[in-house]
Amino acid sequence: MKPARTRMAPSPTGRFHLGSARTALFDYLLARKTGGQFILRIEDTDQKRFVPGAEEEIIRSLDWLGLTPDESPVHGGPYGPYRQTERREIYQYYANLLVEKGHAYPCFCSPERLEKSRQEQQARKVERVKYDGLCRGIDPDEAARRVRAGEKHVIRFKMPQDGVTIAHDHLRGDIVTENKYIDDYVLLKSDGLPTYHLAAMVDDHEMKITHVLRGSEWLPTFPLHVNIVRAFGWEEPVWIHLSVFLKPSGKGKMSKREAAQAIKDGYSIFVDDMKDLGYIPEGVLNWIALMGWGVPEDDVMTLDQMIERFSIDSLTPSPAAVNFQKLDHFNGTHIRLLTTEDLSARIKPYFAAAGLEVRDETLLKVTPLIRERLVTLDDCLAFAAFFFKEDVEPNPEELIAKGLDAKQSAEVARRVYQILEAQPDLSHERCEPPLRAYVEESGLSANQVFGILRVAATGQKVSPPLFESLEIIGKEKVLKRLQRAIEMLERM
Ligand code: GLU
Repeated sequence: MKPARTRMAPSPTGRFHLGSARTALFDYLLARKTGGQFILRIEDTDQKRFVPGAEEEIIRSLDWLGLTPDESPVHGGPYGPYRQTERREIYQYYANLLVEKGHAYPCFCSPERLEKSRQEQQARKVERVKYDGLCRGIDPDEAARRVRAGEKHVIRFKMPQDGVTIAHDHLRGDIVTENKYIDDYVLLKSDGLPTYHLAAMVDDHEMKITHVLRGSEWLPTFPLHVNIVRAFGWEEPVWIHLSVFLKPSGKGKMSKREAAQAIKDGYSIFVDDMKDLGYIPEGVLNWIALMGWGVPEDDVMTLDQMIERFSIDSLTPSPAAVNFQKLDHFNGTHIRLLTTEDLSARIKPYFAAAGLEVRDETLLKVTPLIRERLVTLDDCLAFAAFFFKEDVEPNPEELIAKGLDAKQSAEVARRVYQILEAQPDLSHERCEPPLRAYVEESGLSANQVFGILRVAATGQKVSPPLFESLEIIGKEKVLKRLQRAIEMLERM
């Protein structure tokens, strides 16, 4: 396959979500697979909906995911500028070119007239409300004269009125639409800025885009878009309209409300939130890859493996439900694939954020003990903060072993203290045999004895493997914590 040039073309009008990330991922995979380029273009012509900071969030999110574009407003490139508001003259040139070719025309209708016409059509219950075509009939020389005289106008596409348009989508096949249903859409607004319909077609051509992957919300205007491209006489890109995202319940499309609910549940559909929630890019990418790519649902893939396997022929148009349990699953799976060094470096900031001082040497020993249990990186705090604290705060009730009272539990803790104190160090080879021997001779169960020790030394009922943990905490701290537990038990 010849090198593909793909682009993602977000509008800076909101947050960078799953859908944007998926488009970026497939664009990136196709570009990498074919030795081509992945381009980021900012479609900022809708100034009313512009959100400050949105462009920065897009770039930050792509970087975090590891999908850094080859060409973009910040990375530059040979086909820039990559921000549409910086390309006004280009669109004006092409809009005029279409007028000259007879495929577009200036329209001088006022918003009031358009509104009135719309209402009349609604009252007549027409099948499709459209522009009524008044200015389509103006003689081109007359129209040009009015434009030169500075009369306020837009430029509309002159949609063929008869016949059908056959638009080909790579996943969905031919989409046949009767032309009479397609409006004379505005290409250039009265402020001189283009609409999406013109700007995207022009830029995809100018930027030599070979494959357009975009959301299925563009299917209704897809026939218009192919007509615009054909009116210019340009080669069409391969068009791919990706599948829609359904709510976690699978009933209905993902909406703003669902996005807010996800945040309440401790998840998010916004990539920029995922880092703070403890997700790793590998897990997120694997999760989104499976939404719309027809590979088996449980396939674990790194980005390199995805590049290896990717083909646009295996993308699917069937809707995909957003399932956060799967995100957790893939995140945990990818965490387990990281090297100890890599995972340690990634969890370290969570300890630091909790105000804990972490020595790398200790962390490298802790990481293998907790790796299997982590679903998100921030889980490291629940499982391992006690390693880095000076003291722990056990719940006194939890120090009492099942079937024993406080006094008996204190007696056990004292014996354990003596045994550990007698060891030169707490390597687990050293402390396990005498403690097991004590369990035997005392007639207590391992659960009772080790339960007390665990709560005393770690402050919690669930911890990584006990003996390995004791070794890392170190003799001095373990004894200090045991002593405190004994005192707590004696006071009860
Ligand atoms: N600016 C459009 C959007 O954000 C881009 C659609 C496309 O990829 O062509 O929806």
